[in-house]
This record gives sequence, structure tokens and C-alpha cells, in this order.
Amino acid sequence: MGPRITVIGSINMDLMTKVGTVPQQGETVLGEDFTMVPGGKGANQAVAAAKLGGDVHFIGRVGNDLYGRQLMEHMHQQGVSIDNLEPVTGFPTGIAIVLLSEQDNRIIVVQGANQAVTPAVVEMHEKVIAESEIILLQLEIPLESVQKAAELAKKNNTKVILNPAPVHFLPETLLNYIDVLTPNKHEFDQLFTKTQKQSRKSQCVITKGKDGVVFTVNDEEKTIEGYKVPVVDTTGAGDTFNGALAVAISKGKSISKACTFANAAAALSVQKLGAQAGMPNMKAVQHFIL
Ligand code: ADP
Repeated sequence: MGPRITVIGSINMDLMTKVGTVPQQGETVLGEDFTMVPGGKGANQAVAAAKLGGDVHFIGRVGNDLYGRQLMEHMHQQGVSIDNLEPVTGFPTGIAIVLLSEQDNRIIVVQGANQAVTPAVVEMHEKVIAESEIILLQLEIPLESVQKAAELAKKNNTKVILNPAPVHFLPETLLNYIDVLTPNKHEFDQLFTKTQKQSRKSQCVITKGKDGVVFTVNDEEKTIEGYKVPVVDTTGAGDTFNGALAVAISKGKSISKACTFANAAAALSVQKLGAQAGMPNMKAVQHFIL
């Protein structure tokens, strides 16, 4: 096995319903289709990294219910270690109810057991963090837990990637522990150019959808153009990017090489339907880059 990557984050069951029109107040409409797909940014990024051959461990919580058991089984099948993914009582498994319609998409997220990933739970898993080359974080578990994970990683010389999504104010105390911050353009604007002028100490990698990636090396801004590909579904593009970036960095690749790799992996993912279902394996990325 190669260097270990540990993802500490969210895991949800996404309940997707296709409707002709979304229901108005007091109205009931018939859905046209229903599918359940594993999701949550944490789980998605873990699966992306595992598909690319990473030795991936996931620290998270599900409810003691059917979805929880299904998600644990699913993560295991995808090659992610679930030794630190445990069911808890008192919370349902996290879910997202997604209404897909021609007009727009409407989403309800119930965080459920993801809220049970407390700082104390993170602390319980310090050994896994210490034995990792890198940890990969997002903002779908309590912020104090993200902070604790980053703090423990630094204490143990483990690198930290933070994908600041969904976007949230990041205290200095957290930013100080981050090696690589990976906002998309919208998140970057929210974090650094609009209301909250946050100082930037970590390496910042900004993903810009079809326009690729922007990052800085020695104060010099570099751009890697996006691939021109036929787009089927961009859901999970950022998650694929982050998982791939973690795999490359864990192997000691430079930020520039890691971004090139992640840009290619994410471009492959948008050509297929579904977040996790569209994630490529290593062979596909190598073939695409050549
Ligand atoms: P998010 O999914 O978090 O909003 P982006 O939209 O910035 O993030 O996408 C992440 C990465 O996925 C991009 O940097 C790029 O590498 C790839 N990507 C996204 N959309 C496209 C596209 N239409 N064509 C090619 N690559 C894409």
C-alpha cells in the first residue's frame, strides 16, 4: 500500500427525485423517477482518492439505520477503509433530498450523524491521523471538528488539505494549520475578496470549472487550462479534483503536477452521470493525459 490518505468528513444518502414541476405550497405532485445514491463531500472525496489507487481511510459517522449500513457497505466496496466509520445512536444517517426539475434543483440536507463527528470523536482517531501522509477535510461536519483534525495533523506532521465547501468563515487559527486550500471560484470570492478579508498563508488552489485551475508558486500565479470535453454532469467535479489532488500530493508530487493530474481526473468525471459513478481510475487518467 502507498501513503495513507485520511478523509474526515460527511457521508450522506442522496435521495434523488425527478419531477415535472416542483410542488407549490400545499400541493402534491407525482415524481417521475427516484434513485438513491451515496454522497456527502467527505465520502465522495474518499471514493475519488480510493478509485485512483490511494490507501484511503474515512473517519465519519452514520446513523444506526438502514442507510447507514448501506453506506458503510458501499464505502467498503469502493476500497475505502471503514475501520473508523461507525454507526451512532440518537442521529439518523445524513441525507440529502434532491428535487430535480427542468426549472431548477431544490435540495434539503439533513446533517444527522455527521453532526456526531465531534472534536472528541476526531481526537479518538488521532493515531489514524498521525499515521497518514495527508488528511483531506471539507466543511460538512462541525467546524470545531475540522479545527481539531487540522490541529492534530500538524502536531503529527501530517499534511492538511481543506476544501472550504460549503463556504464558511474560516478563523485564522484554522487557516494557520492548512497546507493546501482548495476553494472553487465562488468560495474563493466569498472567502477572500468579498465580506471577509481573510489572510492567505496556505497554498491556495482555485478550481474554476471549465476554465481549469489557478494556483500560485512563489508568488507567481499559474493557470492550468480546463480540458474541452463533452459535459454530461458536473456534480462531484470538485470532489474528484480534491480526491485526486490528495493522491498526487501524498505521493510527493509538486503542487503543479498534482493540479495537472487532478484537472484531468475531474475533466473525466464530468463526462459521466453521477458524482461517484463518474470518478475515473488511475489507468483512465494516465490514458487521458497521454
Ligand atoms: P465544484 O464542483 O466544487 O464547483 P469546479 O466547478 O471548479 O468545482 O470544478 C472542479 C474541477 O473540475 C475544475 O477545476 C476542472 O478541473 C473540472 N471541471 C469542472 N467543470 C468542467 C468542465 N465543464 N470541463 C472540464 N473540466 C471541468
